[in-house]
Amino acid sequence: MKKRLAITAFLACFVPTMTTQAQTTEDVPPKNIIFLIGDGMGNSYTSAYRYFKNKSTTQFVNRTAFDGYLVGQQMTYSQDAKENVTDSASAATAMATGVKTYNAAVGVDNNLTKRQTVLEAAKKQGKSTGIVVTSQITHATPASYGGHDKSRKNMHAIANDFYDEKINGQHKIDVMLGGGKAQMIRSDRDLTKEFKKDGYNYVTTKEALAANTNPQLLGLFAKEGLTKKLDRVTTPDLSVMTNAALKQLDKNEAGFFLLVEGSQIDWAGHDNDIVSAMGEMTDFEKAFEAAINFAKEDGETLVIATADHSTGGFSIAKAGNYNWYPSIIRSVKKTPDYMAKKIKAGSSASTIMKKYMKFSLTTKEIKSVSDVRKKSVTTIDNAIEKIINTRSNTGWTTSGHTGDDVNIYAYGPSSSQFSGHLDNTDQAKKIFQLINGTEKTIIDK
Ligand SMILES: [Zn+2]
Repeated sequence: MKKRLAITAFLACFVPTMTTQAQTTEDVPPKNIIFLIGDGMGNSYTSAYRYFKNKSTTQFVNRTAFDGYLVGQQMTYSQDAKENVTDSASAATAMATGVKTYNAAVGVDNNLTKRQTVLEAAKKQGKSTGIVVTSQITHATPASYGGHDKSRKNMHAIANDFYDEKINGQHKIDVMLGGGKAQMIRSDRDLTKEFKKDGYNYVTTKEALAANTNPQLLGLFAKEGLTKKLDRVTTPDLSVMTNAALKQLDKNEAGFFLLVEGSQIDWAGHDNDIVSAMGEMTDFEKAFEAAINFAKEDGETLVIATADHSTGGFSIAKAGNYNWYPSIIRSVKKTPDYMAKKIKAGSSASTIMKKYMKFSLTTKEIKSVSDVRKKSVTTIDNAIEKIINTRSNTGWTTSGHTGDDVNIYAYGPSSSQFSGHLDNTDQAKKIFQLINGTEKTIIDK
């Protein structure tokens, strides 16, 4: 016993020194933080994406860009009087403010009190900040980092927050890229004009985005959400927007906080549309790689990627068949939504389906879509998705969210702090610790 105590005492003399040495490499607070959220990107999505990337049906040689950075999982549940499965607003508020709240809450707690977000904390410390998303920039997730409202539905008020809620006399978000012109340009207010007046560059095309040299940047590339990855022609990819944001944010010697969201993985899940889900995963993976590449070169950047919840109850195989067929999904070249709109507009179902669904369609399958061609776009869309889900043996249990834990990926200084089994509120607490030197969550007055 005595001997053990002696050894412990002996070690105790050295442990602090060892810790200090470790801090100089791994545990030093990062200058920059890039936080990526795959909205709705449950574990079945990240696993399925690995199947999707591998052409072989039995071997899974190619890992995804995420795999090598897996550090843990987090709980996602919300603190809602009626629901314990989270929505995007509640989950984002938890990750942004460190406080569990009710579904639909944007940057406020259960008492409707405004809570400081990690983006606001970064701004307060003199860092630059950005949000880069494929939804409206005022949608639930980015809203919960940049705004405060009792409901995610109040997107006009949230847009106003982005402009009106200043920190140290400055606008709180330096770079905003995504969709949502409808929320920013309105009859009562044109926030694009207001931001321009204050020195922001306002861009609406890929070319103008590439040409931007202004550290304060507002880029809106769609009225609502951006065109889906598979259907995109002129809209910038998430990785392109991420790199454009990093270029500007990196100019600040004090560092930055950047939120990047693959917003529409979730939308595909709600729609039970596996083609769009994998398309959006492709887009999000590229953005993650862009963040990792930046961090590797920079050396002072922490990258964290996670999800807010899972969507659709998506399963890799269903109905007792031990197979999933991603080759079917890979062979579809446009989203079912795109095809449905074409068919609704008068194109023949057979022509459209044969053009974009490059597997041998049966007469019965074509008829199942052709029969509903006069009905709503949603009905046509569902008929196409049914064929793809059946052929690929993809399972879905809901059009809503599910309460599964989700993966956490991390890289860079202090990344080890995000390992293990966390709660979604820990994301904010740990980032507050890195930015403010304390885990404390703050009421934002
Ligand atoms: Zn979500």
